[in-house]
Amino acid sequence: MKKNADFVNQLIEAASLLAKGRMAILGEGNISGSLDQDRFLIKASGTSLATLKPEHLVKVYREPFLEAIKSDREFDDSEMEQLLLDSRYDPDSLKPSVETLFHAWLLNLPAVNVVGHCHAIAINRILCSPAKNNFASRRLFPDQIVYCGPSSVLVKYVDPGLILAREIARKVTLYIDTFGKPPRTILLENHGIISLGQHHQEMISATLMAEKAAKIFAGAFSMGGPVFMKEEDVNRIDNRMDEAYRRKIAGSQ
Ligand SMILES: [Zn+2]
Repeated sequence: MKKNADFVNQLIEAASLLAKGRMAILGEGNISGSLDQDRFLIKASGTSLATLKPEHLVKVYREPFLEAIKSDREFDDSEMEQLLLDSRYDPDSLKPSVETLFHAWLLNLPAVNVVGHCHAIAINRILCSPAKNNFASRRLFPDQIVYCGPSSVLVKYVDPGLILAREIARKVTLYIDTFGKPPRTILLENHGIISLGQHHQEMISATLMAEKAAKIFAGAFSMGGPVFMKEEDVNRIDNRMDEAYRRKIAGSQ
C-alpha cells in the first residue's frame, strides 16, 4: 500500500514538473505508471497535469486496450467511450484519458514503467515544420543520446485514439527491430512528445533533454544550420551507455 502511495506521489511530482516547464497547459498531456502485470495508473480525462491529485490517476486494466490495438476492429465514439469506462478497476473512478490506449501498449515494453506525454513548445515548433525528420533521427550532443536515445521514433499525424495507438505500436516495433531496445522518446508530428522511463526521473530527464535539444536545434539555424554528430560517435556513446547500465544492473543483483 505504501509503495502505491509513493508511486502516486512520484507521478504527481513528474506531472507538476512537466507543467512547470510549460510543456503542457490546461488539459494537455498525460502521465501513466505501471502498478503490476495487469494494471496501471493513467491521468483522467479533463484533468490537468499542473493540478493533478491522487484521485485524478485512474487505475485501469491493460488487457482490454492491448486487445483493441491488436485487433483490426474499428470502434465508433460510443464503443471507445465504453472501452475506456469498462477498463476501470473501480467503476466509481473518473474516466481515463482517450490517450490511455498508447500508454497501455508502451507500458507493456521491457523496462518501461512510466510514460509521459506533453505538448512542449520548442519540440512542437520542430514537429510542425519540415525539419522534424532530422531532429528525430540525428543527434547534436552526447547528453541528447544518453537521455533521449540514439534516435527518436517519429510518428505521422493521426487523430488521438485507437489509430494513433496502432501507428505508435507499428513504428516502435520497427525501432526495436533496428536498435534492439525500446526508444526513450517518441515524436508525434503536429502534436507532441512521449517519453518512456523505467522510473519517473528517467521519463522527466528524457522530456527535459529533448526540449533543450529542440531549442539548440532551432538556434543552430540562425548560425548556418545544425551540425549533427557522426553516426559512429552516436553509436559508440549509445553502446557505452548500454554497457554501463548492464554493469549497474549486474552489480545490484
Ligand atoms: Zn497529446
